[in-house]
Amino acid sequence: MHTCSICKKKFAEFPNRAWPINQDGECCDECDCLVVIPARCRDMGYNDEQADAIGKAELESRLRKKAALKEAHHCTQCGVLLSPLDYMMGSVCGPCCRANHRKATHT
Ligand SMILES: [Zn+2]
Ligand SMILES: [Zn+2]
Repeated sequence: MHTCSICKKKFAEFPNRAWPINQDGECCDECDCLVVIPARCRDMGYNDEQADAIGKAELESRLRKKAALKEAHHCTQCGVLLSPLDYMMGSVCGPCCRANHRKATHT
């Protein structure tokens, strides 16, 4: 378990660097997206509104990815169950992906 140095919540997912909010700390996804990323964006010259919007968009995309990984996914070509790693690589299984590749490169 990790402890977020910003909200003090314990969390299991991969920690983010809390810099520049906390020099050496780590933080959870929510604080990273809603506090740390906007702070970095403001440093880069974005205004508050833009910085918050960038952080919120990042949080939404991370939550979507997490939700997608929890669902079962099947290869859209042969229907075999995909592992989360396969699914991250695409919507077809390894053998179908290689078969598609052969077709694409040898015709
Ligand atoms: Zn946090
Ligand atoms: Zn397949």
